[in-house]
Amino acid sequence: MGGGSVAVVGGSIAGCAVALAVARGGAERVTVFERAAGALQKRGTGVTLHSSRYGELEAAGYVDAAMPWGELRRRVWTVRDGEAPLGRAIAAQPFPFRAYAWGSLWRELRRRVPESVVYRPDAAVCALEPDADGVTVQLAGGERERFDAVVGADGYRSVVRETMFPGLLPEYSGYLGWRGSSPAPWGRGPRGAGRDGTAAESASVTGVTDVMDAMDVAGAADVAAAGGAVDVMDARTVVFPGGHCVMYRIPGAGHGDPLNWVLYTVPPQLPGPQQDLRTPVSLPPGALAPELTGYLRDLVARNFPPYWAECVLRTPVESTLIQPIYDLEVPHYAAGRLLLAGDAATVARPHIGGGSVKALQDAWSLETAWRAGGDWREVLDAYDADRTAVGATLVGLGRRLGRAQVEETPDWSAMREADLEAWWQEQHRGSDRTSGFGGHAVSR
Ligand SMILES: Cc1cc2nc3c(=O)[nH]c(=O)nc-3n(C[C@H](O)[C@H](O)[C@H](O)COP(=O)(O)OP(=O)(O)OC[C@H]3O[C@@H](n4cnc5c(N)ncnc54)[C@H](O)[C@@H]3O)c2cc1C
Repeated sequence: MGGGSVAVVGGSIAGCAVALAVARGGAERVTVFERAAGALQKRGTGVTLHSSRYGELEAAGYVDAAMPWGELRRRVWTVRDGEAPLGRAIAAQPFPFRAYAWGSLWRELRRRVPESVVYRPDAAVCALEPDADGVTVQLAGGERERFDAVVGADGYRSVVRETMFPGLLPEYSGYLGWRGSSPAPWGRGPRGAGRDGTAAESASVTGVTDVMDAMDVAGAADVAAAGGAVDVMDARTVVFPGGHCVMYRIPGAGHGDPLNWVLYTVPPQLPGPQQDLRTPVSLPPGALAPELTGYLRDLVARNFPPYWAECVLRTPVESTLIQPIYDLEVPHYAAGRLLLAGDAATVARPHIGGGSVKALQDAWSLETAWRAGGDWREVLDAYDADRTAVGATLVGLGRRLGRAQVEETPDWSAMREADLEAWWQEQHRGSDRTSGFGGHAVSR
C-alpha cells in the first residue's frame, strides 16, 4: 500500500522504529509527536538484546551494527555464602545477549528515521478523535491535525490505547524493579564493533567450573580484590529470598563500563500517595522516598555477597529509580484506524529480556503488513493478527518467570546446578517454542 498519512504518538524506541517502518513502507506523510522536550538519550540505563533476535532485526534494518555494545555470554546465578566476597555460584547458563546503553539504542533509531519524517519534541497528544477513515490528533496546546491512521507508541500509560480500549490499564504485579548503574568495578571491558568499525576484542571466558573455583578461592581475599575473578562477559543474577537482582556491564563513554543493575522484590508497605503503586506510575531518579532507598540498601547489605553488595551500594542514591512491574495485554493491536506498538500494547515483565526486541519487531511487522497489503483494512488486519498473539504469549511467560523468581522463590541456598536447571526448565514448560527468554523469534 503506498501513500497515506500516519501520526506516531511517542518518539522512543517503538515510536522511532514505527516511523522508520511506515516511511519505508511508502507512507507519504509521517509525523512523530513526542511529549518530552529534550533528547531522550540521557535517560535510561542498560538494555539487552538477545543475539539471535538482534541478528533478525539487523537483517531487517532495524538495528545498527555500529552501535557500541558489550558482549555477554553467560548468566551466573549467585547466592550469598557467609562472608565469601563473591558468594556461591549456583549455576552458569548460556546468556547470548548484547548489552547496550539505552540511550545509544534510542539515538541510533532516531538517526535512522528518514528526514522526510517530521519528529516533533515537546508535543504531547492529549486526545484523539477517530472517524470512519481517519483520526484527528489534538495536542496539549490545542493544535489539531488529521491523519489516515495513528500509531500509539506512547508507552504503558498510552493515550491511544485509552481511546481504543477505555479503562484498560496495566495491572500492578505487586513488586518493583529498583534500577541503577554504578561506577565501573572493572574498567573498560571488551566490546562489539563501534562506529569506528573496531572488531570485538576477544577475551578469555572461563568454564563454569573455573568460575566456581575462583569464587570459592575469593572467600579468603578482601572484597575489592575479589573483583579480579569476575569475567566481564558474565551477567550476574544475585538471588535472595523474595527476589533477585540482574547485573551486567554496559558500554560506557570513556570512563569505564558501568555496572547496570535491576533488583526485583516486593516493597515495604509505606503510607503516602507516592507509594500507591497500583495505578501506573514510575518514579524518576531522585524522587524515591528515603524509606524505599533505605529498604533497598538494607536488603542488599543483608542478602548479597559482599562484593556484589558493594557494587550496588555505591550507586548514588539520587540516581536510583524505581519501576513498578506491570502486566498489560490488549485484545487487539489495531482497531479502526488506530494501532498500538511497543509498551503501549503489551507490557510483559522484564524477566523475559525482550521488551525492546518486541517493540522493534512490532515496527518490522507493520512494515511487512504495509508492503503486502493492498489497502488499510488488509494492512491493519495482518498487523493485528501477527502481533496480538505474540504479545499475549510474552505476558504469560513474564508472569510465570515473575512468580518463580520473585513471588514464590525457591530455597536458593539449597540449590545446586542441576536443581536450578530443572527449576528453569519448569518455568518454560508449555511455552510456545518461538517465544521464550529473550523474546519472540520471528524466523524460527
Ligand atoms: C526515557 C526512557 C528510558 C528508558 N530506559 C530504559 C532502560 O534503561 N532499560 C530498559 O530496558 N528499558 C528502558 N526504557 C523502556 C524501553 O525503552 C521500553 O520498554 C521498550 O523499548 C518499548 O518502548 P516504547 O517505545 O514502547 O515505550 P517507551 O520507551 O515508554 O516510550 C514511550 C514514549 O512516548 C512518549 N509519550 C507518552 N505519552 C505521550 C503523549 N501523550 N504524547 C506524546 N508522547 C507521549 C514518552 O515520552 C516516551 O518517549 C526506557 C524508556 C524511556 C522512555
